[in-house]
Amino acid sequence: MPEPTMTLHDPHAEFDEVGETSLDHVVTELITGLGEDVTREGLLKTPQRVERSLRFLTSGYETSVDDVLNGALFDAEGSEMVVVKGIEFYSLCEHHMLPFFGTAHIAYIPGSKILGLSKFARVVDVFARRMQVQERMTLQIADALEKALEPRGLAVVTEASHLCMMMRGVEKQGSTTRTSAMRGAFKDDARTRQEFLEALR
Ligand code: ZN
Repeated sequence: MPEPTMTLHDPHAEFDEVGETSLDHVVTELITGLGEDVTREGLLKTPQRVERSLRFLTSGYETSVDDVLNGALFDAEGSEMVVVKGIEFYSLCEHHMLPFFGTAHIAYIPGSKILGLSKFARVVDVFARRMQVQERMTLQIADALEKALEPRGLAVVTEASHLCMMMRGVEKQGSTTRTSAMRGAFKDDARTRQEFLEALR
């Protein structure tokens, strides 16, 4: 293993402009610990790139559902089921910090409010762009939408592939994990739930 070629700083000594501790020295230490030479050309800027990348992939910590929904709630004119299918998401599993990614499907039966359709993807991102487990992410999306919309029913289904399983060969490659949260009419009424699940086929 090569000797570390950079002095590691006190992690509390450096802050970037948003007041967070800088992570590039931590990434440098990680790369060195893995047996790599951080001074070779291809790796020179990697610590900074990894930090920027991780800040983006965890930017859900800096966004709130209230900000996302601000101004996007409207009076409902009907009570038909609304289904938003195939919302792409990318998240990081909190056990390995490896991506899991897939699609979210959301349905609701409005109470007095509806939400602009583009906002569902933004709500998903608030919770996907964190260190997560898929089950909790699904519940958090459902909780946030239930609180904001006060719908007669709400359903969230997520389907994801987990690189920590695929790359490490723990489970069959190509397997996907599905988790769901059913509220109100989707929980109580099997026909409503069935209508939604059939819409996902
Ligand atoms: Zn994992």
